[in-house]
Amino acid sequence: EIVEFNKFFNRIIDRFELSKSQHVHFVRIIPNEEYFVEIDTDKLTQVIDNIISNALKYSPDGGNIRFGVIVKDNLLQVMISDDGMGIPRENVERIFDRFYRVDRARARSMGGTGLGLAIAREMIQAHGGSIWAESEEGKGTTIFFTLPYELDGVGEWE
Ligand code: ATP
Ligand code: MG
Repeated sequence: EIVEFNKFFNRIIDRFELSKSQHVHFVRIIPNEEYFVEIDTDKLTQVIDNIISNALKYSPDGGNIRFGVIVKDNLLQVMISDDGMGIPRENVERIFDRFYRVDRARARSMGGTGLGLAIAREMIQAHGGSIWAESEEGKGTTIFFTLPYELDGVGEWE
């Protein structure tokens, strides 16, 4: 399915913004350009839902979650950033492993299975992109992913 990415992304963010119970601010840094992507919308929705759910889970009250979209190296680069507890440097790459969770105490209190980001990596790679994290303990976490895009969408998409 061909969709305009920013519209698709904004709709997912809207859904979280309307239903969130925490006092977390959403900050969008999303350009007014149109970028068309050919994606499985259900799967990409699942990927983005998991990243936003994680950001919310680990955000402090009053924290910010930033949503960004830029073009880099001929790919769309999407960023979801929180200022939560962060992840120790030595564990950052492991969060994409199946069933991996940073620590058991955190895992117990936060629920979940530890599969979300492993599935996200599989899905993003299947779409020709990549996904990675940057994090600093006590400062926050940013998840980045890329997708191939085109500047014109062929036909109508909804
Ligand atoms: P599931 O997504 O299957 O419900 P989960 O959220 O624990 O469970 P993942 O989404 O794969 O699993 O995340 C793996 C682990 O990475 C999490 O358990 C958490 O320890 C860590 N993590 C992920 N995102 C963040 C974040 N934004 N801030 C801090 N830690 C994070
Ligand atoms: Mg998760």
